[in-house]
Amino acid sequence: MIKHHPDDNLLIEFSAGTLAFAQSIAVSSHLHFCRHCQQRVDRLTQVGGTLMQEADAVPVSDDLLSQVMDKLDATAEVAPQAARPVGKMPRVIDKLIANYGKAKWEFLTPSLDMARLRTGQKEFEVALHRIKAGGSVAKHDHRGTEITLVLDGSFSDENGIYNEGDFLVREAGEVHRPLASRDAPCICLSVVAAPVRMTGPLTRLLNPFLSFRPQ
Ligand SMILES: [Zn+2]
Repeated sequence: MIKHHPDDNLLIEFSAGTLAFAQSIAVSSHLHFCRHCQQRVDRLTQVGGTLMQEADAVPVSDDLLSQVMDKLDATAEVAPQAARPVGKMPRVIDKLIANYGKAKWEFLTPSLDMARLRTGQKEFEVALHRIKAGGSVAKHDHRGTEITLVLDGSFSDENGIYNEGDFLVREAGEVHRPLASRDAPCICLSVVAAPVRMTGPLTRLLNPFLSFRPQ
């Protein structure tokens, strides 16, 4: 059951095509798992198309925006989650991996591997992270926004447990320590807008994100 979704601003920017490509990958991957947000985006795209036809570049006020979102809420019918072959990655991820050869896992710590995905976006690092069953990631905070999407398995941190399809945004300054569930590894997509740093002096060595290499 998906509990964490992209907020309306992200969905609006996504459907308008103004969201950075790197972040769109995360939203699009979420839509692969989430029928509810899929329908919201479909409606937003329709509404956007109609507005474009009816008016020439009329600035959209916050008021209008919230009216539109209310309307969407009122009409949204939440369909049951679509059946999905187990273990199938979102198409956009498959495509990124296929475009640049197989994802190459780099060893970071005994419980964490990472595979970078090249997107051509200089301001973002996009990568897959694999936490071994029962493994943990060193405590770290964020200097920039990080979007995490659970692709397979689940992990938890101080704030809760996150399952397949959950979409999380960590803002600069937030500290957390992800931990994979005991029974299975967890694979996440992460889109980082700026490097993060470890909070303890010793764990600096283990910081998987210190080697930030824009692609
Ligand atoms: Zn959703």
